[in-house]
Amino acid sequence: MTNLITKNIIAQATDPIYIGTGGFTIGRVDNTIVRDPITKIPKIPGSSIAGTWRYYVALELQSSFKDEYKKDLAKRAKEKIEELFNNPENWIKNFDKNRYARIKCAGQDDLSKETLEEMQNKDSGHCGHCIVCKAFGFSKKDISNQGMLFFSDLNILFFPVYTRLGVRWITSPKLLKKDISVEENRILTSKGDEGYLNLGWLNLEVEGTHSLNEDDLKDSGLNLDDIVIVPDSLIAQIINSNLEVRTSVSIDPITGAAKEKALFTSEAIPRGTIFCGEVRGFKREGGENLPELNDIFCALDDSKQYFNSLGIGGMTTRGFGRMEILSDLKNGECKE
Ligand SMILES: [Zn+2]
Repeated sequence: MTNLITKNIIAQATDPIYIGTGGFTIGRVDNTIVRDPITKIPKIPGSSIAGTWRYYVALELQSSFKDEYKKDLAKRAKEKIEELFNNPENWIKNFDKNRYARIKCAGQDDLSKETLEEMQNKDSGHCGHCIVCKAFGFSKKDISNQGMLFFSDLNILFFPVYTRLGVRWITSPKLLKKDISVEENRILTSKGDEGYLNLGWLNLEVEGTHSLNEDDLKDSGLNLDDIVIVPDSLIAQIINSNLEVRTSVSIDPITGAAKEKALFTSEAIPRGTIFCGEVRGFKREGGENLPELNDIFCALDDSKQYFNSLGIGGMTTRGFGRMEILSDLKNGECKE
């Protein structure tokens, strides 16, 4: 039985994505987004992915319980849940400690000073037993658990920009983690014969063809013709000057009208951007009662659909944040 699983996460923004830094102003933008401190390229931090996915796994788990409740309200619900766990088959039923799960397992623990025993008889705080608490970690007075999943940052792999030939997705040797040579202030395309090509407002000479193949596109769904390789020295500048910048106004909840002097601008990673990262699952040896890694990855795969509808990050009520996880995260078979 393997106790270490690594899966790539390839995701595409279906809305602009805003992961705020909380109040820094850069130039004309009031609400800035998280960037890598070295490259200055915007990213989605692993902690955002972990926190959001934790919530979605808990949601999926709770909604499966709710269906059982609905079938047979109140009185027989407890019996029903026992029955559920007597027929192990999928990631929810395979781990019988999931019976302790509650929606509070999703967020931050508000009662971490209590013991696990005290917790079992309460309705709030992390239960400390279920697949959510074991996979994503929890902390209690008598026991804490760092979790079994480790999420890397989601970095930009392909970034959409407007050109005179339509939208192209730019990337660079460093983003691809490939040894590709491209001259200063030149670019590589799949045909290599465009002469000059504008990337946003920047007009650059096409040096020649890139020799990428289908494998380099991963699960992005893009075509080789969509890809333009720019030098590492230019990538951050082009990305940062082609971010989505939106101006909004705060609404006064009492009058329903715009507040005075409450105009603000926000930047976001544009829709269509392809991100790349990874998640590692690690199961420690020992007598501890832990869920199987395969079940945890089934849980991730089952709940990834919530990113399509509920999204990630801030301003989701303003049409930001939706994202599609394109990778298959299953490690083996997952039953419904
Ligand atoms: Zn729990």
